[in-house]
Amino acid sequence: MLSNSVKRLFVRQIKCSIRTTGVRSLSAAEDVTSLTKPVEKFKGDYDVIIAGGGMVGCTLACAMAKDSILSNLKVLLLEGSPNKEFKLKTDYSNRVVALNQNTKTLMTSLDVWQRVEKMRLQPVRYMQVWDASSDAMISFSSSELLDDDVAYIVENNVLLHAINQELASSKNNISIIYDAKIAGYQLPKQDNSRVKSHVQMANGDTYTCQLLIGADGANSAVRKAMGVQYLSWNYDQMGVVATLNLAEECTNTTAWQRWIPSGPIAILPLDSKRSSLVWCTWQDHAQQLLKLPEDQFVDALNDALWKQYPRSGSVETVTSWTTSWLRRVGLPDGAARQLPPSIRNITPNSRAAFPLAFGHSTRYIAPGVVLIGDAAHRVHPLAGQGVNLGFGDVADLTAALSNAMYSGLDITHTAWMSTYESTRQRHNVPTQVMIEMMHRLYTVDLMPVVLARSVGLQITNALQPLKKMIMSHAAS
Ligand SMILES: Cc1cc2nc3c(=O)[nH]c(=O)nc-3n(C[C@H](O)[C@H](O)[C@H](O)COP(=O)(O)OP(=O)(O)OC[C@H]3O[C@@H](n4cnc5c(N)ncnc54)[C@H](O)[C@@H]3O)c2cc1C
Repeated sequence: MLSNSVKRLFVRQIKCSIRTTGVRSLSAAEDVTSLTKPVEKFKGDYDVIIAGGGMVGCTLACAMAKDSILSNLKVLLLEGSPNKEFKLKTDYSNRVVALNQNTKTLMTSLDVWQRVEKMRLQPVRYMQVWDASSDAMISFSSSELLDDDVAYIVENNVLLHAINQELASSKNNISIIYDAKIAGYQLPKQDNSRVKSHVQMANGDTYTCQLLIGADGANSAVRKAMGVQYLSWNYDQMGVVATLNLAEECTNTTAWQRWIPSGPIAILPLDSKRSSLVWCTWQDHAQQLLKLPEDQFVDALNDALWKQYPRSGSVETVTSWTTSWLRRVGLPDGAARQLPPSIRNITPNSRAAFPLAFGHSTRYIAPGVVLIGDAAHRVHPLAGQGVNLGFGDVADLTAALSNAMYSGLDITHTAWMSTYESTRQRHNVPTQVMIEMMHRLYTVDLMPVVLARSVGLQITNALQPLKKMIMSHAAS
């Protein structure tokens, strides 16, 4: 019964949220040839225009500058925000990401990782995830599983700065314009045509290109102009972030995540004294947390990390039976666990909150256009996968395009674009589904659901090959 009602809810949400967002943005959309003549403010023609210079768009530009074939392309990166001067401060930024091994490999190949290491990053060598509604937990340790670090915590602005530094020192086929608000697009209609995309800037400038890449984030205007279906819903949740000062200094290479009924609270290590918070909770609660005086916010956080939530007797009985059975058959029973750190205080004014939503573009490509990063897919941050998926897009896009050009194919040939789309969707869609299932499973407080997820977690924790499989998918 329960599964039927959950299914109905899911189907209803899908029906409500499938939106055909595509209106080709400029009025003469189908007659692009009429605009190919330079107009008054025509500013230039490029092989590739990347719309959006966030972490994913900048990484793509860097990868294109470093690839021996793609570095012959004339590329323009348009970023709407100003080019802020970066200075590494003693205080950590409140915006951090957990990066996986695949991202490390990509960034190392671009010489970006070395620059991040020179600034700062923190390796995660152990991760513990536990359920507040039962005794179930799962842990991942680098020594047991990967013989390498589980993840790396890096501030968004440190990573972006490292990418931009590398971009500046690479081959000069990339032009970057900051403060460049794009107002609309006019896209070609047919595959493999010679018709170019037109990019209309808010200040009246226009550019043309053969290949347009939408790296313009979750509200992507490129995606809207493509007219593809976009499946999306809001979680009515926000991620509250802050920089935390720990009560005691320690090695601090553990990432902690406690699932409480309102959502997960993650404490990610920064250095021996500090960690970064991502507290996912309902919108009203998030707003309240932001308004609390800082000392009361810390009390609320320590409470959420340590508080004993009401537990069902049946769940307790079955999970303790599972623990003893696991012990009897010689499997890890999850009884040995580490205790999370206590928080002393937060770095003043480091709190902020970000809305959380799901988004999936059914197509990543259209004639002469490709989507990457959050423009194509958006996930709940509970598994720390969002930007890692975007960096995976960058790696696969550059490989597919470079191979295609090496074989003499055109820059907008459907063959490489379809390869890119299918390769990425084969990875991204199952990841999105898994994250969505976890979110749904852990925001329900009904006894049978708590029971099923707790026993599931205990058994997963006991089976090393299964944990290895999860980690290798999360790392790729
Ligand atoms: C609380 C929280 C925690 C997270 N933690 C993690 C984590 O641990 N690990 C992880 O992998 N991911 C994490 N994520 C997800 C991650 O932050 C995103 O996936 C990532 O920022 C997406 O990068 P992007 O470059 O695709 O898009 P964005 O960062 O949105 O960049 C898009 C860029 O396009 C520009 N742009 C948009 N429109 C225009 C326009 N019209 N004209 C010109 N420029 C434009 C914007 O200015 C922006 O710079 C987290 C997200 C949240 C909210």
